[in-house]
Amino acid sequence: MMPMDAIHLIGMDRSDMDGLLANMGEKAFRSKQLWQWVYQKGAVDFSSMTSIAKHMRENLALMATLKRPFIVKDLLSSDGTRKWLLRFADGQEAEMVFIPEVDRGTLCISSQVGCTLTCKFCHTGTQRLVRNLTAEEIVGQVILARDMLGDWASPPIPRKITNIVLMGMGEPLYNYENMAKALKIIMDPEGIAISKRRITLSTSGVVPMMNQCGEELGVNLAVSLHATNNVLRNEIVPLNKKYPIELLMEACRTYPGLNNARRITFEYVMLKGVNDSLTDAKALIKLIQGIPSKVNLIPFNPWPGTIYERSTDEQIHAFAEVVMKAGYPSPVRSPRGEDILAACGQLKSQSLKLKYNDRIAASEGHGC
Ligand code: SAH
Ligand code: SF4
Repeated sequence: MMPMDAIHLIGMDRSDMDGLLANMGEKAFRSKQLWQWVYQKGAVDFSSMTSIAKHMRENLALMATLKRPFIVKDLLSSDGTRKWLLRFADGQEAEMVFIPEVDRGTLCISSQVGCTLTCKFCHTGTQRLVRNLTAEEIVGQVILARDMLGDWASPPIPRKITNIVLMGMGEPLYNYENMAKALKIIMDPEGIAISKRRITLSTSGVVPMMNQCGEELGVNLAVSLHATNNVLRNEIVPLNKKYPIELLMEACRTYPGLNNARRITFEYVMLKGVNDSLTDAKALIKLIQGIPSKVNLIPFNPWPGTIYERSTDEQIHAFAEVVMKAGYPSPVRSPRGEDILAACGQLKSQSLKLKYNDRIAASEGHGC
């Protein structure tokens, strides 16, 4: 039986682990071994850590845990998309999505339970309960996904999870410290080993944290722009009142490491009759002029009670063409895993189904 105050190894960085082993009176090199068992091999218990001395494994088993988040729901779509509803130790829940594609497998993870920002088209922003996820809970999502996908094999066996996007619930730059600690663990080449070039952080525009994010973590940046003037952006992304478009664009222009091979992704949710005219498309091109970037057009994902509608396919494609002709790649994000909602609904009564689909749709809307 694990003590209530067990030491949580997942989420520990190298210096945390060094400190733990020093306290246990173990030699420093054991820390590296433990690190590899936790983050490179995905050990779920201490008895499997065969290169570690038996007494140390027994001590660890008495005082530490490798516990992952609890899976409340595990849904598999016919297109291979997989969604999990996760529950953390305090009962709070968040979601994670895996999207397999021909040349990659992308895991979309959450950074917070809920979100303090209240973007008008986003369901997460309407949820009252909000807290930051800990580094343990953020790294724990990736570890759990690897468990579930059987993705702990060593090279040359190809990895299933090749890319990570922070596009689930929450604003990652409002949880900078925990998120940065988690990402450093995830990027460590002797551990989970997903390179910064394969990680994309999506922000609604927390301008003061953007430079630090680029300098310290060097991950790809996606910026949720959604509007090309302050009047509309103030309304749909209220954070714009604090950090208006001019400041946001300046922070994008100066994002560290930007060049044509490493572009900023501007996310643009297509809301019918709100921001989807060809005049908007032209304004968008003007705004991002000179910034190495691409534009990701996201068809709006409706949720019960929303005042918005998804733009028509014709409008989305006409918009994309204007942007593309100006020299910016403008892929339209295709909805994935739509049938999972139905599959999930079959397990529930009609009203519960609505409630649950509502919750899934909220995070599915997060570009995943
Ligand atoms: N908070 C961060 C990251 C999470 S949201 C951010 O806002 O960037 C990830 C993306 O999903 C954002 O671009 C967000 O605007 C978008 N999004 C949120 N709700 C949506 C919805 N209902 N339909 C389509 N996209 C949505
Ligand atoms: Fe928060 Fe992003 Fe949703 Fe805005 S779009 S409410 S920042 S999760």
